[in-house]
Amino acid sequence: MAGLRVLVTGAGGFIGHHLVKRLKADGHLVRGVDLKLPEYEETEADEFKLLDLRRWDNCLLATRRIDHVYNLAADMGGIGYITAHLAHIARNNTLINAHMIEASRQHRVQRFLFSSSACVYAQSMQKSADVLPLKEEDAYPADPEPGYGWEKLYAEQLCQYYHHDYAFDTRVVRFHNVYGPLGTYEGGKEKAPAAICRKVARADDGDTVEIWGDGKQTRSFMYVDDCVEGLIRLMASDHHLPLNLGTDELITINGLLDLVSTIAGKRLVTRHDLTKPQGVRGRNSDNGQLRKVLGWEPGITLRQGLQPTYRWIERELVKTAKVPDERTEIAAA
Ligand code: NAD
Repeated sequence: MAGLRVLVTGAGGFIGHHLVKRLKADGHLVRGVDLKLPEYEETEADEFKLLDLRRWDNCLLATRRIDHVYNLAADMGGIGYITAHLAHIARNNTLINAHMIEASRQHRVQRFLFSSSACVYAQSMQKSADVLPLKEEDAYPADPEPGYGWEKLYAEQLCQYYHHDYAFDTRVVRFHNVYGPLGTYEGGKEKAPAAICRKVARADDGDTVEIWGDGKQTRSFMYVDDCVEGLIRLMASDHHLPLNLGTDELITINGLLDLVSTIAGKRLVTRHDLTKPQGVRGRNSDNGQLRKVLGWEPGITLRQGLQPTYRWIERELVKTAKVPDERTEIAAA
């Protein structure tokens, strides 16, 4: 169904920017809202409003004359950031999510999608690197990541309450580690794949690269094109309950470094910094429910997705003169 008026909040951020491009390609009228414009490329949104969505009046402005809302705006970052700013993150995201859902309801938005996270899952179930993939029901009894995870779990519940009390048509997606080009790769808010790509791009053959923790912690990673495809499919479905969106290709952080080094054509030495936060020991997505509900699951392998991601970060570093040009030529040869 083309020609809808769609709002993407967080449209200046990584997933939001990619989603705006897809929605435009699908023929929708798109309004993007964020505190900032996209950093690496111009937005394709028909209209882009710079608004602070912690404020109720701004949420009313953002949701006026809108059919579908993808609520992606959030104060978030990698493990270093989300473990250091518990109160700040929880407060900011509580305000954004509580105001956005109520403003959307008051403006009779037809569908509202909330982007949750695998950080809602019980920490007690993620103590082993060889972890059992997490099913949607494993979020309870609640024992999520402090701050960021608790807020996501609460906002998921808010969606369920709005559905129950007002028959408001909500969707809740639980992303598992999304990566790809045009994502933050430095400054403290970057996630593991982008941070590792940056470190490898900056290193010379034989250099030492630092990894947080012992590197044996495990995760699964989803390429951003799969993430956007899943979002569009979930919005088109009639599924109100939280749904995993990720891959079940489990890898250690050491394995991730090996993959990126191979892509870069570099042999590197690893130094493990055990004083740095590493999050839960292991986390993987159980995609049984995802396959059942959407008849689809992410199919881009980590090896496939890391190629364009690494090349993009490498080019960015060259542009900002953080990697000498000739090194790119050697790596690309
Ligand atoms: P991102 O940080 O690139 O994008 C989030 C955007 O929200 C940013 O551009 C930020 O400026 C904006 N924002 C923050 N506070 C705001 C405010 N007060 N008003 C308006 N805009 C505000 O992150 P992303 O990776 O694109 O993530 C999008 C969504 O997906 C977030 O809700 C995030 O929690 C969720 N998520 C992402 C991942 C991942 O791996 N990327 C994993 C789990 C969940």
